[in-house]
Amino acid sequence: LARIAEADQQVHSFLEVTEQMALAAAAQVDKAIAVGTFGEMGILAGVPVAFKDNMNLEGTRTTCSSRMLENYVSPYTATCVEKCLQAGALPMGKLNMDEFAFGSSTETSAFGPTRNPWDLQRVPGGSSGGSAAAVAAGLVCATLGSDTGGSIRQPGAFCGVVGLKPTYGTVSRYGVVAFGSSLDQVGPFTRSVEDAALMMNVLAGRDPLDCTSQPCSADFTANLAEGVRGMRIGVVPEFMEAKGLTDEVRQKVADAIKQVEALGAQLVEIDLPHARAAMSAYYVLGPSEAFSNLARFDSVRYGYCDPGHTDLGSQYDASRAVGFGAEAKRRIMLGSYLLSAGVYDKYYYPAQQVRTLITQDYQQAYEKVDCILTPVAPRTAFKFGEIGDPTEMYLSDMFTISINIAGNGGMSMPVGLGEASGMPVGVQLISPAFHDANMLRVAAALE
Ligand code: GLN
Repeated sequence: LARIAEADQQVHSFLEVTEQMALAAAAQVDKAIAVGTFGEMGILAGVPVAFKDNMNLEGTRTTCSSRMLENYVSPYTATCVEKCLQAGALPMGKLNMDEFAFGSSTETSAFGPTRNPWDLQRVPGGSSGGSAAAVAAGLVCATLGSDTGGSIRQPGAFCGVVGLKPTYGTVSRYGVVAFGSSLDQVGPFTRSVEDAALMMNVLAGRDPLDCTSQPCSADFTANLAEGVRGMRIGVVPEFMEAKGLTDEVRQKVADAIKQVEALGAQLVEIDLPHARAAMSAYYVLGPSEAFSNLARFDSVRYGYCDPGHTDLGSQYDASRAVGFGAEAKRRIMLGSYLLSAGVYDKYYYPAQQVRTLITQDYQQAYEKVDCILTPVAPRTAFKFGEIGDPTEMYLSDMFTISINIAGNGGMSMPVGLGEASGMPVGVQLISPAFHDANMLRVAAALE
């Protein structure tokens, strides 16, 4: 708590520190130690953990970094948060993010940006920027983030920590404010691969409250020590030659590829011919789902209510005008256009077809490889305000988005500092659906 109070004045990763809850949970751990039952507690007993502010924790605010939900106090706890509490974690608080998870820099938060602990002039990435920065600054041992198009992996890379987006359906989304329901997935940020695997053991599994969640009995730590000898690792030449990929990132990723080969893995060149359409498909599907999901923030069912209106229409208009920031409005307007009559057939339907093609690309690749290794983001953390154009910001996710579209697992693994910027670089490891242990195994070998 003292470390958060001191260091977070500069980093601003926390929106709320839940001091009383953390102390109460710590008292339970102390008590268990005193009476000799500590061994019966869960794997996270006494471990400080914090949560992205789109996850409900009963009795605390869930703001999604939006004025719209500034005063929303959650009446219940999300399954992913509950599982951490059940495992004995100390809930330290709620973490900053891009508003409603729209963004790649945490600059769209209504409550001010989070700063990158490696260089306070630079962004931590986003949308789970607070979750990545809190771990990088050593404020907590693990955090939860959510990833719709790259929001765990890209900030993981920018802050030099492990960030894992599990296969869609591995972790329950119940109690997590929805952005794109068919793309969203919750996952951990940690400082080590083993910690990420332990967090996955806590988080994974079927939840009757989320019909897309799947049963899971895997032990994610089981083959961390096996090494990569004999594994077939896919590399994607098109990604390595992509326009916009900086030399320092290309260099580090090439080094990691050489390293896994030196450790005995077999490199296999693969082709993901439709991956280049992933960005276009995502910016149809994502905003369409967001438009639908954000309809509930209408000042009546949920959210800020602008006072003094005498008819419902003007109350809706004024409340949403004040409550939502610019990027949220952009997504809502885009989604509402894309789903309107006459337009729907031209964009939404083809985007779903592209989705099938991308999924098939990955399925074919996984006949030849056990894991794929690519860059996470085209560049290292940029300076505040450096990227002003929204479409340029969207390119931050050029290597991560196709994985959400296909639904398989992806993670970001730090591999050192870029030569030019001196900032952390991550490589992305991608696994076949429900074989997330494969990528953890490769990550452990690179550690
Ligand atoms: N940066 C992407 C977007 O703005 C992805 C965000 C996310 O994964 N939540 O949509």
